[in-house]
Amino acid sequence: MSFRALGLGDRIFQAIQEAGYTEPTPIQAAAIPLVLAGTDLIGIAQTGTGKTAAFTLPILARMAGMVNDGTPRRTRTLVLAPTRELVVQIEENIRAYAKHLPFRMATIFGGVGERPQIEALRSGTDIIIACPGRLLDLMDRRNGDFSGLQHLVLDEADRMLDMGFLPSIRRVIRKLPVKRQTLMFSATLSKEIEALTHEFQQHPKTVQIGRRSNPAETVTQFVYEISGHLKPTLLVHLLQDEKMDSVLIFSRTKHGADKIARRLEQAGIKCGTLHSNRSQNQRLKALNEFKAGTVRVLVATDIAARGIDVDGISHVVNYDFPMHSEDYVHRIGRTGRANQIGDAISFVSQDDYGALKSLERFIGRGIVRKKAEGFDYHQPAPPRLPEAPRGPGGRGQQQRRGQGGGGRRDDRGQVGYRWR
Ligand code: AMP
Repeated sequence: MSFRALGLGDRIFQAIQEAGYTEPTPIQAAAIPLVLAGTDLIGIAQTGTGKTAAFTLPILARMAGMVNDGTPRRTRTLVLAPTRELVVQIEENIRAYAKHLPFRMATIFGGVGERPQIEALRSGTDIIIACPGRLLDLMDRRNGDFSGLQHLVLDEADRMLDMGFLPSIRRVIRKLPVKRQTLMFSATLSKEIEALTHEFQQHPKTVQIGRRSNPAETVTQFVYEISGHLKPTLLVHLLQDEKMDSVLIFSRTKHGADKIARRLEQAGIKCGTLHSNRSQNQRLKALNEFKAGTVRVLVATDIAARGIDVDGISHVVNYDFPMHSEDYVHRIGRTGRANQIGDAISFVSQDDYGALKSLERFIGRGIVRKKAEGFDYHQPAPPRLPEAPRGPGGRGQQQRRGQGGGGRRDDRGQVGYRWR
């Protein structure tokens, strides 16, 4: 199938060609005709499948084809997404696909000043891409005119539920016209998602791409079995390989992400960090430097990295093995996108074997165990050292914790050792 055959119109077709896409991805081929026909849609697809274009292209085509009834500009499309990064990314995509169309768009999310967002809402913006919390806050104060809304998209709906956004989403949707087209995208089709579709959609059609537990075939997965205290040195060892030129490292916690970053910086490896304790500007800077390739390593937590789309990530490293198999599938979906190849490396210590076994059941196959060449797996655990002070009051507490325990407890309550 070709994009031309989908009937999106010349201006969108031109933008698609300029983006370098030659043919629709499976989710695009399946979803675009349905959305063009005005059907409500449930899209079950992992990130990296081209789902943003799958909903954006037909919505833009519908908006472009609708006659302007002469009323002042009102918001016609609202996209809700769980994180600021995802909102920014969706907007970048929409801007590229709509570059030959006259639509105005704006992003709305917390952690930054609200004035420009209020102005965007008041001045009549055709397309809004928003995180639910801040949008609700602004709508409650009567900003924006959603009375002419035609298209609502709930992207990464499963993650928005996980993050507790349901009450805000409900309240936002109550303020929207009942007659609208609603598209919902989720990586999984759980009972909760089904309940949402009953609540927010009318006679939706479902498009499902691949099994929900199916990591991309283009990703090579393997596991290093390693005791916790060796993880930092193994990571530094692996990063000496020049082939690891764009590496996304997952930490289970924010504090853990900072620790990994500090250790890498000590080893002379420049890296960025992405987690919710960092300011909006710090997060965008880290992401942009990683995208531009000026920094080759990004350390992130699951939530901050959700749905992040960076071209050509060569490796995903699960420094902390994820507790939930779905998170593993999401994490490694960051590499091997759009049919490029990628490696997913997981560090697995004794405590993680249970989760590894469940993952192998979930994805229906075993993951290769590997040994890093030239790495000494028998290094003894380093002697216990007092922690360096970390801000006011930190020192005494850290030292007390370090005494007599053979290591300090990390964020998961496991005993570990200081890296140096
Ligand atoms: P998404 O799943 O929306 O995050 O998209 C994943 C990546 O695929 C993005 O970098 C898109 O620019 C890219 N992409 C989307 N549609 C196509 C297509 N038809 N051909 C090639 N790349 C695409």
